[in-house]
Amino acid sequence: MKWLSHISIGVCVSTVLSPSNILFSAVGSIAPDVLETLMKFKHRQEGHYFAIWVIGIGLGFISENYWFSWFCVGGFLHVLGDAMTMAGVPVGWWSRHRIHLLKAPFKTGEKQEYVVVAMVIIVTLLSLKFGGSQIYVPFFYDWYKYYNEGIVDAFELKKNRLNFF
Ligand SMILES: [Zn+2]
Repeated sequence: MKWLSHISIGVCVSTVLSPSNILFSAVGSIAPDVLETLMKFKHRQEGHYFAIWVIGIGLGFISENYWFSWFCVGGFLHVLGDAMTMAGVPVGWWSRHRIHLLKAPFKTGEKQEYVVVAMVIIVTLLSLKFGGSQIYVPFFYDWYKYYNEGIVDAFELKKNRLNFF
């Protein structure tokens, strides 16, 4: 998958589940490819070990470094995205087996990639709209709700109701 696709998916998932960690998830979502370049790894090999990112999520959680978990969630989603492409991704250092998520995988940049990204975005928008989430989301303010709850006045409602960000 392309970086824009990886970043979009990473941002979407953290927007719904943990908005305060969007930045970590976004950076993590390109980390497997960045590591590959920096460490001169083989293409979609060490940097894309599925197990590494899962372990990272666990380690961050156990040590209560949740930002690190979210960085690794970004990496995990990246690897999942690449697992939908022809090349697939390696399970881990002990195995030559590669994970393929789809029966009909696509090549990076083919239209199916954008269909997947679009579906993630749609699901994200729907969950923000109807999820009744209690978490603070730094955009998609529901100005009519704030107005009804008396948090903003009519002037602010009128001024902001068409601002989505
Ligand atoms: Zn990749």
